Amino acid sequence: MIVILKENPDEKQLNNLTTWLKNQGISLHTSKGLHQTILGLVGDTSKIDIDLIKQMEIVEDVKRVQEPFKNANRKFHPLDTVIHVGNAVIGGGSMTVIAGPCSVESEEQIITVARSVKKSGATLLRGGAFKPRTSPYAFQGLRGDGIKLLLEAKKETGLPIVTEIMDLSQLDLFDEVDVIQVGARNMQNFELLKQLGRTRKPILLKRGLANTYQELLMSAEYIMASGNEQVILCERGIRTFETYTRNTLDISAIPALKTLSHLPIIIDPSHAAGIARFVAPLSMAAVAAGADGLIIEVHNDPPHALCDGLQSLTMEDFDHLMKKIHVLKEACDSCK
Ligand code: PEP
Ligand code: MN
Repeated sequence: MIVILKENPDEKQLNNLTTWLKNQGISLHTSKGLHQTILGLVGDTSKIDIDLIKQMEIVEDVKRVQEPFKNANRKFHPLDTVIHVGNAVIGGGSMTVIAGPCSVESEEQIITVARSVKKSGATLLRGGAFKPRTSPYAFQGLRGDGIKLLLEAKKETGLPIVTEIMDLSQLDLFDEVDVIQVGARNMQNFELLKQLGRTRKPILLKRGLANTYQELLMSAEYIMASGNEQVILCERGIRTFETYTRNTLDISAIPALKTLSHLPIIIDPSHAAGIARFVAPLSMAAVAAGADGLIIEVHNDPPHALCDGLQSLTMEDFDHLMKKIHVLKEACDSCK
C-alpha cells in the first residue's frame, strides 16, 4: 500500500499517522519527490482501513500495491535510484561502464587491463576472484589472492572494484570491495541476499538463467528488506531454445524493469552473447533501449584467457566500442 501525501503536510499530523501505522506492525519507506512525498507501507496491510487514511487532511490518495515486491517497486519510489561509487554514478540517466577480465589471473594482467579500460572511459573495474564454473576441473579463480590483486589495481588506477561473492563464508574478504556482485547462479540464494542486505555496499544482482522479472525483483527485495537499498539489477542473457549464442539477451528487460522498479539496470552483453564480436552490437542495443550501464569483459590476451576468452574484447576493441557508445548515448539523449 502507498499513501500519497499532499504538499507540505502538517508535521504533527504526519507524525500521528506514521506512529499509528508503526504501532500496527507496519514498516514505512518514505520517498520524497520534488512535489510529493510517498509513504510505502510494508507488512500486513490487510487490516488497515484505507478509507480512514484517505479522510486525513494531509493525505492526497491511498493505493494498494498488488506486486509482492515493495521496496523495489517504482510505486513506492517514483524517482530513479541513483547509486554513487567512487566517481561513478549508476542510474538516473547516466551511462556507466564496468569493464575488466572475467577472472583475475595475475598482477600484471589485472593492472594492464585496469589502466587500459580506465583510459578508454570505464569508471569501474570488474574481475572475478571466486568463479562459478560449470566444471569442477576448470580454473576456479584466485579467490582471496584475486581480491588482493583487484585492490592493487584499484590503488594503481583509482577505479572502484566489482567482484562476485559465491558464499557467505567469503564475506570478510569483501571489506574493501566497492560493489559486490551476486552472480546469475546465486540470484535466489536467499540467505546470501539477506546477509548482503545487512551490508552497506552496493550489490550488483544478476538475473538468473531462467528467472522472471518478478523473481529478480523479489531477490532485490530480499536485499532491500534487510536495509540495503543500493541494488543494481543486471540482465545477462537468459536460457532459450537458441544455442548459437551462449544465452539470449532480453532487451525487453530494460523498459520492463524500469517500469516496474526504480532500481538502475545494467546490461552484460558478454555473458549474453558468449561471442566477442557480438558484444558491440548488443551494447549499442542496450544503450539505445535506455540501460543505465554496461558490464563488459575485456582481456589483455583473450585467446589465452583462463576463463571466457571467446567473449572477451581486446583492449583495443573495447576502446573503439567506448567511442561508439558515447556518440550513441548523446544521440539518444538528444531525442528523448
Ligand atoms: C561473471 O560476471 O563473471 C559471471 C560469472 O556472470 P554470470 O553470473 O552472469 O554468469
Ligand atoms: Mn565471465
